[in-house]
Amino acid sequence: MINFGYARANDVAEAVRLIAADPTAKFIAGGTNLVDLMKEDVERPTSLIDITRLPLTKVEEIPGGGLRIGALVPNSDLAYHPLIAQRYPMLASAILAGASAQLRNMASTGGNLLQRTRCAYFYDTVTPCNKREPGSGCSAINGTNRGHAILGTSEACIAVHPSDMCIALRVLDATVHVAGPSGERTIAMADFHRLPGDTPQRDTNLRRDEIITAVELPAQGFAKNYTYLKIRDRLSYAFALVSVAVGMEMDGNTIRQARFALGGVAHKPWRDSSAEAALNGQTASPEAFRRAANALLRDARGYAHNTFKIELARRATIRALNQAAHATPQSQSNKKIV
Ligand SMILES: Cc1cc2nc3c(=O)[nH]c(=O)nc-3n(C[C@H](O)[C@H](O)[C@H](O)COP(=O)(O)OP(=O)(O)OC[C@H]3O[C@@H](n4cnc5c(N)ncnc54)[C@H](O)[C@@H]3O)c2cc1C
Ligand code: SF4
Repeated sequence: MINFGYARANDVAEAVRLIAADPTAKFIAGGTNLVDLMKEDVERPTSLIDITRLPLTKVEEIPGGGLRIGALVPNSDLAYHPLIAQRYPMLASAILAGASAQLRNMASTGGNLLQRTRCAYFYDTVTPCNKREPGSGCSAINGTNRGHAILGTSEACIAVHPSDMCIALRVLDATVHVAGPSGERTIAMADFHRLPGDTPQRDTNLRRDEIITAVELPAQGFAKNYTYLKIRDRLSYAFALVSVAVGMEMDGNTIRQARFALGGVAHKPWRDSSAEAALNGQTASPEAFRRAANALLRDARGYAHNTFKIELARRATIRALNQAAHATPQSQSNKKIV
């Protein structure tokens, strides 16, 4: 491990000043992703700016009925917060499907949004990887790519975005609040993560010198008809092969509004407004769900080892839509571990 400097920021303005002054510095929050990447020599910040003492730890109600979640709210606190558990259970469920209790205690809301891909070649510094070293090539395209993307890929990178929480945030139409040297701005969750294109080294549209201060949830939480279904190799402590977040508004057996997004299949949470529109006003039925799943996956393309994900994602989407429509969500652990 190379030497690095350390500074603690006492307020958001100081954090922004510190990061703007050092182009190779990084913020550290829970450290559950960044420290691993430093140990593997993938990230080499010259200094760490500790943001854990910033006053960004509250979940607050905002006018209009939504919530503002501070960037440093730990994943566990968020999942078990009464307002999240009651009004946004899909988000609670997605968070509880991720990592382990210990990791969720450390992981922050902002850090979760910025966690990097788990592509094994990205972590292996002796192999070419355009995300780690732009222009070096992609080892996964012709390598072992079982966990890789089937949608929105490019010649440069076929990695997937690994977060569970972000898939639910995408369905909820959350907004990310950020601060930087030129002031504050908001980024819609839809625009926060990027497709790889020819710049796979850039995961998000956050600028290098900006800090995430909060995530805002609109009032609509889909508290009755929702699910977060995660398919993975082990029942816990594993990233998604495919996951599906669904929120619905039902009128009897008629779908008034449907929103759904896939995780584990693309470089960002994958949502498609035309697939959703095809469900609105329809009677909840296996045929309608299959049509919606087919529309969502119409451009899916498999590689040597991950073609199975296309059918897996189709079946998972149909099952998740059915769970949400019938208010029988996939259950996640609801026991608080302290
Ligand atoms: C073994 C293991 C299993 C896991 N399984 C899952 C899983 O199944 N599902 C899942 O979703 N996640 C999983 N995770 C990932 C985990 O959720 C993330 O590591 C965690 O959310 C990152 O949050 P953090 O606060 O620790 O971030 P850090 O590691 O501190 O930071 C991550 C990145 O975000 C930046 N950053 C942090 N906060 C801010 C901010 N406020 N503004 C700007 N930049 C910021 C840092 O500079 C860094 O680049 C797993 C992790 C491990 C180690
Ligand atoms: S898929 Fe992306 S992260 Fe993985 S080796 Fe290729 S360029 Fe690197």
